[in-house]
Amino acid sequence: MPKKSIYYDYQPSTPRDEKTDSGSYYFIFYQDKLLIDHHTNEIPFLKNLNQLPVEPLREIYLGQLRRSPCLVVEIESCLELSGMSFIDLKELYSILEYDIYLLAGRAIQIINWDKNHQFCGKCGSSTGTMEGEMAKICPDCGHFNYPRVSPAIITAIVKGDKLLMARHTYGITNRYGLVAGFLEPGETLEEAVQRETAEEVGLKVKNIEYFGSQPWPYPHSLMVGFTAEYDKGEIKVDGKEIADARWFKASKIQNRPYSISISGELIEWFIKKYSS
Ligand SMILES: [Zn+2]
Repeated sequence: MPKKSIYYDYQPSTPRDEKTDSGSYYFIFYQDKLLIDHHTNEIPFLKNLNQLPVEPLREIYLGQLRRSPCLVVEIESCLELSGMSFIDLKELYSILEYDIYLLAGRAIQIINWDKNHQFCGKCGSSTGTMEGEMAKICPDCGHFNYPRVSPAIITAIVKGDKLLMARHTYGITNRYGLVAGFLEPGETLEEAVQRETAEEVGLKVKNIEYFGSQPWPYPHSLMVGFTAEYDKGEIKVDGKEIADARWFKASKIQNRPYSISISGELIEWFIKKYSS
């Protein structure tokens, strides 16, 4: 079944363009964990934040969710809230509806961007928020910042009926995963696929094709998935970042990542296509 878009029931807008007496949806974060109402498995819907015994550090209007206002709030301290608790975003993948899960990912990135851009990175003055824009501007030097997204590539490299998987040195388990890494300034996504493949496993690939993308708000990335075919070279790992890399037949792939990640979707794609 196709996953819902973040815009399924959400309309972003920067200025608060409506007043409502019925209530608002609140994405409330404490130490990057989101407040969930256990009765509904949803975020709280409140007339205002005073209904909860929480002290907001910052509050940003996000737009309309299900035709009601929605806001993101960071709070200072964690109190006992009856029937509610703060949960890590990754654990909410299977609890929240997918579009709300995506919106929670947008909410945490915006509240953390606000927190981390209180001062100008150029001259050090206190910043303000640009009217009508999700942007921070410095009143002294005019420097401005939008929320940052850091793209990363992830690639399913196929040779015959086998998939290349690598094991990181820092992994706490023996899990093998796909070649992945952050985009460097100045390169295209396809060049990032070639460079990361060469750096991690010493191979060259061809026929790089776009597979799909996925917001990855841990903390502010976008995973861009590709498929590629082996071109030339012998597997050679650096031993520092990558401990081992091998070709796996579909039937030999174990410890698959959860479907939360595009990594899991790429491996599913390979298994479906090459299982006999
Ligand atoms: Zn400045």
